[in-house]
Amino acid sequence: MRVSRLMLVTLRDDPAEAEIVSHRLLLRAGYIRRISSGIYAYLPLLWRVLQKISAIVRQELNASGALETLLPQLQPAELWQSSGRWAGYTAGEGIMFHLVDRQGRELGLGPTHEEVITSLAADLLRSYRQLPVNLYQIQTKFRDEIRPRFGLMRGREFIMKDGYSFHANEECLRATYASMDQVYRRIFARCGLRAVAVEADSGAIGGSASQEFMVTAAAGEDLILTSGDGSYAANQERAVSLPAAAVPLAASPPSELATPGQSSIDDLCAAHGFDPSQLVKVLLMAARFGRQVQPLLVCLRGDQQLNEVKLTNAVSAACAPRYGPVLEIQPLTAATLKAWGLPQGLGAIPFGFVGPHLADHLLLADQGPVVVDGFAGQAGATGAVADAGGAGAPLANPQPALAKPQPDLQLLPSFLRLADSTAAELERFVCGANRADTHLMGASWQQLCASAEGGPGALMPQVLDLRAAQPGDRCVHDPSQQLQAARGIEVGHIFQLGRKYSQALNANFTNEAGSDEPLWMGCYGIGVSRLAQAAVEQHHDAQGIIWPLSIAPFELIVVPANIADAVQAELAERLYAELQAAGIEVLLDDRGERAGVKFKDADLLGIPWRLVVGRAAAEGIVELVERATGHTSQLPAAEISATLVPRIQQQRSGLAQ
Ligand code: ATP
Ligand code: MG
Repeated sequence: MRVSRLMLVTLRDDPAEAEIVSHRLLLRAGYIRRISSGIYAYLPLLWRVLQKISAIVRQELNASGALETLLPQLQPAELWQSSGRWAGYTAGEGIMFHLVDRQGRELGLGPTHEEVITSLAADLLRSYRQLPVNLYQIQTKFRDEIRPRFGLMRGREFIMKDGYSFHANEECLRATYASMDQVYRRIFARCGLRAVAVEADSGAIGGSASQEFMVTAAAGEDLILTSGDGSYAANQERAVSLPAAAVPLAASPPSELATPGQSSIDDLCAAHGFDPSQLVKVLLMAARFGRQVQPLLVCLRGDQQLNEVKLTNAVSAACAPRYGPVLEIQPLTAATLKAWGLPQGLGAIPFGFVGPHLADHLLLADQGPVVVDGFAGQAGATGAVADAGGAGAPLANPQPALAKPQPDLQLLPSFLRLADSTAAELERFVCGANRADTHLMGASWQQLCASAEGGPGALMPQVLDLRAAQPGDRCVHDPSQQLQAARGIEVGHIFQLGRKYSQALNANFTNEAGSDEPLWMGCYGIGVSRLAQAAVEQHHDAQGIIWPLSIAPFELIVVPANIADAVQAELAERLYAELQAAGIEVLLDDRGERAGVKFKDADLLGIPWRLVVGRAAAEGIVELVERATGHTSQLPAAEISATLVPRIQQQRSGLAQ
């Protein structure tokens, strides 16, 4: 390919829209152009990169016995209604683009394909004799992401490889899952990526075990926690750790403590010499399902932070069977209630003074729901939960806008009471007294709950793991190890789905004993377009991109320093033809630009090898530059086929790099 035919427009300056280096470089080097928010054109150079990545993915998956297929992107609502995911994916913070066709039927644009593939499996897979099967596709996915950003990293239209396997039993599913783990490691290694496998939350996809593959990079959106000995790695969404021991509170009869204006943990500790681990803080939130709003009362030990993913999973487990999927969780504030069109209560207990024994009757319409003022404005204070006994943990990921007022929402009359085990294990603690400027000292769960109207058990929270593991925490597998933090870009995710979708969509098979049972299922994703950008995030320098050869758009660029010089032009053309004939993917910079401009562009584009045809062309000598190392050597043009070509061929598989 000739650079003059490439529509190449490189930018000297950093585009204002790009916040991270890989996004800047892909824009500057003419690989992508933004069409709209989260929507990009993959220009010919990037398309070649994506094709190379796809080819590696295909080779490795085909070798593992998986079969390529292509499923429709337009998917009928009924399929998603059968699995119970239509509402969750289309209402509230749902990410599925959806539409109504001319016949008035609802359709969604595929964000993922569990429903479509499972309905096919229900149709086609009848007997254990057909199992296992493993199907995959490489296709554009659509997701109306809340925050599209960083170019291809979080697009609203992006390329994914998604695969689905079906099995007669769980052991077989586990075996394929383990084999996909190995296949993924090979794929990422061949693409030149340093990727780590981490335990992951299964999120909206569901299922039991799941593992993500993270490309470690400072710009990564995910926080990974790993142990120094390398035997534990997990996404923080999922990570577990040993909490620090609580500092025991001196034994004294329960009493009230005047705490004027002391609404935060810091205030209380400073004024009374408490340790944060001696406090129980209460977060009041509300989970919206279809029409129901479930008020939540969540207790955490004062030194611990809420893990929202664990909370969402706990709320789903407790309520989804009755009310359907959780659409969103918000702090229980006047603003939330107003946005949801719910009556706003009057019985306000100020921020910071709510205790775990807050009675349900405060939620009744005549009392008005509890509205705790003072924390709506803190929603941006990421993770800085500092309220003792108070409501309103700032959500770690504040949502930009609340959903539109919903008609006929119903506030359920009692709290779902949850406590993290570190809070539940405290024998005595300090907490809000449910009265302004007052806390309780030496409170215990029994004493708080014994006085409850509705009986001693009425206020007892369900005890769960809700705390966020933090860097520096001791590891569960070996308390002498500490968790360390790193940032990662999720490029792949594999799941053991079990029978969630096959049960919902009646995908049964006849087993060896002759009876019907639901299929066992796994699913496996790779963000192909995200991976391309992640490679740039890991491989670049101040001059530009440094593509690993296995996924580079071209393997070599021939740069005649002065195209007007007949000798240089002729030798450059000859090398271009000769290398192409040898099967090398060559770019020829045939533009009439100055040599300096062409060298800069070659560095920016990141082509692994550069042959410069300059003044020494008259003697048949050219200069070879390796982009990654900057290593430069002079060599006779006649020797290139014998020396460089085998080297490139060797690098091509990605395994020799
Ligand atoms: P994330 O946690 O980053 O939102 P996810 O868990 O929703 O991703 P999956 O449903 O597991 O993603 O999709 C499989 C792969 O597709 C992910 O591992 C990721 O590499 C890629 N991917 C997901 N969402 C996007 C997106 N908006 N833009 C680009 N790639 C994406
Ligand atoms: Mg994921």
